[in-house]
Amino acid sequence: MSNVALTVAKFGGTSVADHPAMLRCAQIIKSQPETRLVVVSASAGVTNHLVTLSQQSLSLEERSDIIENIRTIQKNITQHLADEEPLNVQIEDVLSNLTDLATQQNTLQTAQIGDAILSCGEQMSSILFAAVLRSIDVDGAAFDVRDVMRTNSLYGKAVVDLDELSNNCEQFLSPLLAKQVIVTQGFIGRDGLGNTTTLGRGGSDYSAALLAEATRATNLAIWTDVVGIFTTDPRIASSARAIPEISFGEAAEMATFGAKILHPATLIPAMRSSIPVFVGSSREPEAGGTQIRQQVDSKPTYRSIAVRKEQTLVTVKSPAMLHASGFLAKVFSILAKHELSVDLITTSEISVALTFDNPTGSTQALINKAVVEELEQLCEVSVEHGLSLIAIVGNGLDRSSGLGSSIFNNIEDINIRLICHGASANNLCFLVNENDANNVVETLHDKLFV
Ligand code: ASP
Ligand code: MG
Repeated sequence: MSNVALTVAKFGGTSVADHPAMLRCAQIIKSQPETRLVVVSASAGVTNHLVTLSQQSLSLEERSDIIENIRTIQKNITQHLADEEPLNVQIEDVLSNLTDLATQQNTLQTAQIGDAILSCGEQMSSILFAAVLRSIDVDGAAFDVRDVMRTNSLYGKAVVDLDELSNNCEQFLSPLLAKQVIVTQGFIGRDGLGNTTTLGRGGSDYSAALLAEATRATNLAIWTDVVGIFTTDPRIASSARAIPEISFGEAAEMATFGAKILHPATLIPAMRSSIPVFVGSSREPEAGGTQIRQQVDSKPTYRSIAVRKEQTLVTVKSPAMLHASGFLAKVFSILAKHELSVDLITTSEISVALTFDNPTGSTQALINKAVVEELEQLCEVSVEHGLSLIAIVGNGLDRSSGLGSSIFNNIEDINIRLICHGASANNLCFLVNENDANNVVETLHDKLFV
């Protein structure tokens, strides 16, 4: 299989939001015979409705209103298709299962039922997308990804078993790709107990990358609603523009720190297996997009500027750290216990500053009172909120002279709370007050990129 050209194409929620959007995606596939595995998100809005069903205890009426909204989104698609009736039967099957799950969840509130609820969006969009393909004479069939995407039982952020995935794909999925265009679901999997799991919000990109790796695909295309990865957020700097090509190393920094175009884990399988990734807009496929690959022709010092708001800075200080060892290990074991992931870190002799992504309304672990109290057993702790992380992404930043003047001289009047530089050739990061962030990005973008 490895020598045969195979592209895995992933279409995000806005790309499969309604019938015209799905039709545009289907035309892309029709024009690219090497695209034989398609991974879809739920139609835009559906996962958010499902999250409400899975997280809140709702009255009977509220629940049926939400399910009705979901039904409307999907039926607006089936009504354009010749096999509307049989498709509606399939959608009603999923919705009746969803109604049962939502009823159970109302009393039990388990993460396991929550994941089963969340999986319904991708189940429906994949059925519909395969039908849209058939409507333009592409032989498309839906495939239940749970038959290959084996995970552990960490509901809400399940971890995929790569060996099982690879074996299952070889056995059950790859043979089908030789005959048909297979449409499958992103974001969902199944654990060893037979229960449905999910990989975390926005996880469809990651599913697509894992499937590309497991089917030994030669390319991965992530179709979304932007014409590639931009030099910065165009809502902040109007001179932002799409980047034609970018290396894995740079793109990984962008995905971690930047505008949330790709799920941050997406590039891990792609890098590991050297699969080039294309990011483009299904609305304007002719506009091109960004190619992400191992080797790129141009390696500019400055490629892009990313900004991430709602950062929390935790400073831990202990005189006991002076000439001592093991202090950091203790701090990190507390953070690990609370499943907190540190982004930036700087140290002085007796203190350590750490930053955390701390977005409101997130499902990930956040810095909270319990963590702070536990750290306080060990040392003095101070917590600052309201900060933004600015990441300058580029090449050779660890060796480039004149970084200070090119970057910091342009933002002289800004209070820089912390700087991280030197760990990566692709990244220089610093923290500023949230209120200054847009201004900093705009100024630096105009200086470094225009
Ligand atoms: N539908 C899921 C979400 O909205 C997964 C995805 O679209 O990537 O988070
Ligand atoms: Mg997405």
